[in-house]
Amino acid sequence: MNNAPKNTQSAEQLLNSMQSAKAQCPRCHGIIETTDCYCRHCAKPLQSRIGFWYDHGGIFLLTLLAGPFSLFTLWLSRKLSITAKLLWSAGIGLLSAYLIYAFYQSYLMMKEALDLMLSGGM
Ligand SMILES: [Zn+2]
Repeated sequence: MNNAPKNTQSAEQLLNSMQSAKAQCPRCHGIIETTDCYCRHCAKPLQSRIGFWYDHGGIFLLTLLAGPFSLFTLWLSRKLSITAKLLWSAGIGLLSAYLIYAFYQSYLMMKEALDLMLSGGM
């Protein structure tokens, strides 16, 4: 059979490609291994901790969604500099303090309104 050696070869190729999965660098499109931390052509970081959630936009979104909990992601990030981390922390801290203050103010207002309603109803 003529096809037999060809099939064996393609199966071997498939096995090889499965064992060492290749990926493309998003920046220079060079061939890299999926296990690589940095691109071997342009040195761009490739690991997940340097992904979207660890960039400025991701931190901003996380702060909106999870409030002060985004600080965990912020300090785990390897992408942001220490200055950026300190600035973000200060910003998130101020925002949290303001939100707690606003929440407390609205609580006081609601309590006052409730007292008025109750005393008016009596
Ligand atoms: Zn690259």
